[in-house]
Amino acid sequence: MNIPEIFASLVFTDEVMQARLPKTTYRAMKKCIAEGKRLDREIADVVATAMKEWAIEKGATHYTHWFQPMTGITAEKHDSFISPNGDGKVIMEFSGRELSQGETDGSSFPSGGLRATFEARGYTAWDPNSYAFIKDHTLCIPTAFCSYGGQALDKKTPLLRSMEALNKQALRVLRLFGDHETAKVTPTVGAEQEYFLIDKDVYLKRKDLIYCGRTLFGAKAPKGQELDDHYFGAIKTRVLDFMSDLDEELWKLGVTAKTEHNEVAPGQHELAPVFCTTNLACDQNQITMELMKKIADKHNLVCLLHEKPFAGVNGSGKHNNWSLSTDKGVNLLEPGDSPMENAQFLTFLIALVKGVDEYQDLMRCSVASASNDHRLGGQEAPPAILSIFLGDELTDILDSIENDSAYSGKDKELMKLGVHTLPKFFRDTTDRNRTSPLAFTGNKFEFRMLGSSVNIACPNFFMNTIMAEELCQFADELEQSDDFAGTLHAMLKREIKNHKRIIFNGNNYSDEWVEEAERRGLLNLKTSVEALESYSKEKNIRLFGKHRVLSKEEVFSRRDILLENYVKTINIEALTMLDMSKRSILPAVSGYVKTLADTILAKKSVSSAIDCKAEEGLVNKLSALSGCFCEKIEMLEKAVVGARTQQDIGAEAAYYRDYVLPVMKEMRAVSDEMETMVDAKVWPFPTYGELLFSVL
Ligand code: ADP
Ligand code: MG
Repeated sequence: MNIPEIFASLVFTDEVMQARLPKTTYRAMKKCIAEGKRLDREIADVVATAMKEWAIEKGATHYTHWFQPMTGITAEKHDSFISPNGDGKVIMEFSGRELSQGETDGSSFPSGGLRATFEARGYTAWDPNSYAFIKDHTLCIPTAFCSYGGQALDKKTPLLRSMEALNKQALRVLRLFGDHETAKVTPTVGAEQEYFLIDKDVYLKRKDLIYCGRTLFGAKAPKGQELDDHYFGAIKTRVLDFMSDLDEELWKLGVTAKTEHNEVAPGQHELAPVFCTTNLACDQNQITMELMKKIADKHNLVCLLHEKPFAGVNGSGKHNNWSLSTDKGVNLLEPGDSPMENAQFLTFLIALVKGVDEYQDLMRCSVASASNDHRLGGQEAPPAILSIFLGDELTDILDSIENDSAYSGKDKELMKLGVHTLPKFFRDTTDRNRTSPLAFTGNKFEFRMLGSSVNIACPNFFMNTIMAEELCQFADELEQSDDFAGTLHAMLKREIKNHKRIIFNGNNYSDEWVEEAERRGLLNLKTSVEALESYSKEKNIRLFGKHRVLSKEEVFSRRDILLENYVKTINIEALTMLDMSKRSILPAVSGYVKTLADTILAKKSVSSAIDCKAEEGLVNKLSALSGCFCEKIEMLEKAVVGARTQQDIGAEAAYYRDYVLPVMKEMRAVSDEMETMVDAKVWPFPTYGELLFSVL
């Protein structure tokens, strides 16, 4: 395989545009992109024609506006290029209009009440910052999805708006530091993706996996992850075949799949790409998840992206590595060499520390979902409490700024911003804190609370907006001052003092931290319901409004969509549990009890003195358990009905959390106990052992 040759071969890259577009068109298009303006019709027509010709050469027959509605997955509607030419034949056509804008009957996509059904039309508009690509013989045009009133109906639009806001504020700060060269600041992201692979034949026998993506029943297998023999272990041939197929397809689409390894749980793996601009990283992560599923299928495997497919072993997350990069290639979260560069680095760093402390609720909210609640705080992922890991050296430096004291890295030296340089050692610090929700790793922040299935747009547009706000406040203050260095020092000193409570370098999985965090006054929004309620707090509406990322209506609609999603997810799980219980588990247990009772009768017919203790014991235990199981079924049925009587979506979500989930948990416990006693041959579903160790 010639990787450089196939890399991005299915992408309409800048290079392809340059080669295929007339110079004037190319230049005009680049200008529009740089200025964030719409393409005019003539340019769009030329671009569309070039794109169509390129796509047809690559085997494409259709085109689609590819977008990311608030369902979290991607959506597409394919149109073929054909157009009848009047004499019974067709020609292949694709106009600038078709490229730039598409109409979509959006009524079936969630809008959280933004679009009344009589105004069902939404439209998709090309985001020329993301390259078009070919997937399944279809030219995919990355688009943003809006209502006719201009409200965002997707995940992409606020992400693009937040990047603009961040750029604006970051440039203000850079100018204050005397940087007049940088023309653009963009957030960069590398999203490490975890997933499970299981055998498809086994998967197809489990309705819970098919409908919910996770097991709702299942007794623990004798072996789980306790031997730590899977993490970074040798990759099995079948998985390797899958990974190399996946790499090849991703590379063709310009996704820089880089690192692949086994994860902690049996059957669990990870893929990490090389980082890139946030909106591209977001598109690429969506493509990655989609291809993982598709390619797994070719290998008779199923890729599970659910956050917690199996109880008792680690679930899957996504690590969102985030930094800020200038168009000159400078990473703003990388300490520099001169005192001024160091001061600038600390300014950006402290802006984030302040922002995360002030918007802990939003950061938690950005990763909220019914499925992610199973992971957070479960000793396998960070707790629901936000904190930042900076490492000892950097924390020491902040201490020294705060207290005008010497820092331990250098003998008796005070840390004066703009005067002193930072010690070099923490740049390549290897002391990694794997338990922190948000860890500074030398030149970027790694946000580790994301669930594996989440669209990364949301956490990123939150983070970008929060950062934009803090940089805006800093710039406001510094621009007013005649003494830049003095004001900067005093300002950073003040903010360290105000927000250092969010810095925590210890073990985030420990119970002591939960208590300590409470003493520090940090939020612990344990479930997504509490987290989502805080989305629409006044201060958050103000934040998104000020930076033109989300209007008040958009905030409310998004909150409601996420709450609805929470409710629907648990509702489907509850209904699946009821179905599996009544139609599979109970009949299996009853049947087995009958077999046991028949055995007892048969034995007694040989001799009344014969010992039937084993069978009798089992009949007793299983009868008691299945009786209890029936009670739980009734309770769950009632709870599901009760949920419908709640007044609003917030109350309904809280009801599912408080009254439905607990019964589901109890029900599972009873079933799992029965599973350990019933003849393996009659148990209706593949066991945990078969699921987790199904790929040989
Ligand atoms: P690990 O966390 O496993 O040690 P790395 O530190 O090499 O691995 O990077 C993990 C992820 O962080 C990769 O996806 C990488 O592309 C991404 N990354 C590295 N630098 C940056 C950056 N400046 N901005 C955003 N992501 C980055
Ligand atoms: Mg990592």
